[in-house]
Amino acid sequence: RPSGTPRRTLPTRLSDAPGGSFLDRRIDALSVDDRAIVARGDYFYEPVIEATEGSRILIEGRWLLNFASYSYLGLIRHDYVDQAAERAVREHGTGAHGVRLLAGTLHLHRELELTIARFLGTEDAVIYTSGYMSNVATVAALVGPGDHVIGDVHNHASILDGYRLSGATVTSYAHNDLADLERALRKAGSAGKLVITDAVFSMDGDVADIPAISELCRRYDAALMVDEAHSIGVLGATGRGVVEHFGLDRASVPIRMGTLSKTIPSTGGYVAGSADLVFALKNNARGWMFSAAGTPPQVAAAKAAFEVIETAPELVSTLRARTDRYRSALRALGFDTMGSTTPVVPIRCRDTAQAHEMARLSQRGGVFTQPITYPTVPKTLPRLRTIVTLSHTDAELDQAVAVLADAGRAVGLI
Ligand code: PMP
Repeated sequence: RPSGTPRRTLPTRLSDAPGGSFLDRRIDALSVDDRAIVARGDYFYEPVIEATEGSRILIEGRWLLNFASYSYLGLIRHDYVDQAAERAVREHGTGAHGVRLLAGTLHLHRELELTIARFLGTEDAVIYTSGYMSNVATVAALVGPGDHVIGDVHNHASILDGYRLSGATVTSYAHNDLADLERALRKAGSAGKLVITDAVFSMDGDVADIPAISELCRRYDAALMVDEAHSIGVLGATGRGVVEHFGLDRASVPIRMGTLSKTIPSTGGYVAGSADLVFALKNNARGWMFSAAGTPPQVAAAKAAFEVIETAPELVSTLRARTDRYRSALRALGFDTMGSTTPVVPIRCRDTAQAHEMARLSQRGGVFTQPITYPTVPKTLPRLRTIVTLSHTDAELDQAVAVLADAGRAVGLI
């Protein structure tokens, strides 16, 4: 083990010891399921990556092809991005001076916000320190008790946490089901209404019907917020997400949330929209007001990555072509890719055990994938999730297809 990373050891049951406390019992209760997964040891759990070379990652002394990365355009370790981060450290150091409203706003923060706005064609944007925080803080700022928040049942956990914090009445509609959405809108009557959906659903790789959702929002006077975590750099001819993909006008999605942790190789998140929206969020979103600004290298790297995509939009079409070829190969083998039309390509499995076995076999064959099972997805829809990025060469994509084919035959899936 080159870096001497300590091996994960199975935690002992704390409350087996005499005189166990409430905390011991609570910790045991919280970790019972995960302890069983680690004990089985049949696939990597919180794997520690010791090195990265192209699409290959070193885990426990073995190089594996990374088919679980969100770095869709392969911009992690891009020279231009890395240099921008290095320059920011030299000029500003590694920390911000606190929260944005006080001494935390460097020119880098505003430059990134205006770069995002330019990229998306909005008036302004506000950056948060994570995508998770962007959703939680924005939802909680925009709606409250007495309002209704209405979202796709597959929405990301950070959106659900925003619902809770907001205190608004929550309705989840069936996945991409417009009739169900309309029922919820009608039921909410004249209350304030916020509709939220992921653009690309991160576990299925399918795309929300934004034109129809937007039209319903217009008809029922509901605000529409779209989470573009998995659509920036992926959807639209030049990677600008759902508005470009569907050829919509800007007003059709007034609240455009995204992350800086997937296609954009940094951490952070943002909401882009009108200058008035951004001003209102900066004075009401508590996760922005009361949490420190992003660090100089992180913010500079994000801005540089948007510039890379602006100057090399062909990256987006290349990713699409490679993904389509890979997905078609899997489908030709008989795998069910669950309606994916994006680089998130799940392989539907019969049950949880089969998804785990697929992951174990694919990792044994040198392809790093993760099983996605209940409670992340419904009990009936366990899957192996694979993700294509621009770091994969054509030969590596072929290699992955061959490994997955062997795994699928071994477990009787194809
Ligand atoms: N929204 C979606 C749809 C996501 O998939 C994620 C991350 N997996 C987030 C929000 C949170 O973003 P971050 O990881 O940047 O906090």
